[in-house]
Amino acid sequence: MPATAYHRLMSDLDPRTLRALAGAMPKAELHLHLDGSLRAETALEIARTRGVDAPRTYAGMRGVLVGPEQSEDQAALLRAFDLPIALMQDAAALEHIAADLVEDKAAERVRYAEIRWAPLLHTERGLTGREVVEAVARGAAAASAGRSIEVRLIATLMRSHAPGRNLAFVADLEAHGVPAGLVAVDLAGQEARFPDPELHRAAIDLARSIGLHVTVHAGEWGGAAQVRRALALSPERIAHGPLAIDDPTLVAELIDRGTWLDLCPTSNVQASIVPTLEDHPLRRLLHAGVRVTLNTDDLTVSDVTLTEEYVRAVERIGLTLPELWAVDLAALEAAFCDEATRAWLRGEFLAWAANVPELTGA
Ligand SMILES: [Zn+2]
Repeated sequence: MPATAYHRLMSDLDPRTLRALAGAMPKAELHLHLDGSLRAETALEIARTRGVDAPRTYAGMRGVLVGPEQSEDQAALLRAFDLPIALMQDAAALEHIAADLVEDKAAERVRYAEIRWAPLLHTERGLTGREVVEAVARGAAAASAGRSIEVRLIATLMRSHAPGRNLAFVADLEAHGVPAGLVAVDLAGQEARFPDPELHRAAIDLARSIGLHVTVHAGEWGGAAQVRRALALSPERIAHGPLAIDDPTLVAELIDRGTWLDLCPTSNVQASIVPTLEDHPLRRLLHAGVRVTLNTDDLTVSDVTLTEEYVRAVERIGLTLPELWAVDLAALEAAFCDEATRAWLRGEFLAWAANVPELTGA
């Protein structure tokens, strides 16, 4: 299409059309935390039935579960996870919350979702890490049956946990088998207090050796240097890492290694990594040739759907619609699923887009 025609198309795109397109688009989401995505109704019910000290009204519960629009830093934002984790300490609660999230994602046309959480944060009332994984897997499988969504799970290891605990969790997977649906490990948590991912190398290498994929949270504190540290563990994908853009050598290395950045612009503003959405480097990273995906991080803590995140990527960050579509499709390439599922989803996505000329620029 000639540039003039293309620009006319973009300027003709009114906000309602953009929102409708983003909603209807089949989407894939790779960076999504279970504990950051609780429905307030479910949280109220679990707090009441388990006697957990928490707000008793919907508005009060939302007030605690939704994070501030901008926090002082990552550590301050992480406080929004304290109540969800307190509510997620038995198998029935975990199952319910996982099913809710799968339903919510299917309802906004997310056709493929990877859901992550830290099993070892949910063992305070006697569950083992493996039992936590199995409960979430049951809830996710029950909710995805009969809905147009494929779900895979990622077990997050915490930076704050002793390396030996993380290693023991993975060693149990090695000894007793990986529960169905679990496809990867992640490393996450406070970076300022626990900046060195190298401490968890043994757990991560063991996970890789038993066929699990590897992703690492990096750069929610400490900028490009933290992304570089994470890269030393050879993750296939880095969760966040937007400030890699500040280091041209690192950008070249990410491109060279084909490492993905699973970006979450709204969450990054909340954690004060970038001052505003308009400042988010998503577009610059994409144009530099870094492989990126677009995600919410947290449905509730960030109070944002993937549809809304897509709208913001166009309206506030400046992606064109064909760029947005390319980023959406790219998530299927980055997905930690088997090749048959990937090929099937790609076919479904492309078949849908064939009737939407705005997306392909055709
Ligand atoms: Zn995250």
